[in-house]
Amino acid sequence: MNEETTAESVAKGRTYGAFRCLNCFERVSVPTGAKTHKCPHCSFEWRLSWLSPDFPRIRGPVWEANRQLAEENLSKKQKGVN
Ligand SMILES: [Zn+2]
Repeated sequence: MNEETTAESVAKGRTYGAFRCLNCFERVSVPTGAKTHKCPHCSFEWRLSWLSPDFPRIRGPVWEANRQLAEENLSKKQKGVN
């Protein structure tokens, strides 16, 4: 769990960008330059490209990471059905 504030991160010379998760629509901050990032809200993992050092853009989901998540969700739904 990263509990640093943005101000503290900037003071250390680290920069972060932020994007909106396309799965749960929560705002997610991510260290600049990260190629992939897992949403802390829904655990969906995204591939990122960077338009500028503080402006990440979602390229698409990381299928290898999300397949397992999708299968877990599917099995939960199947269990919920009579
Ligand atoms: Zn999410």
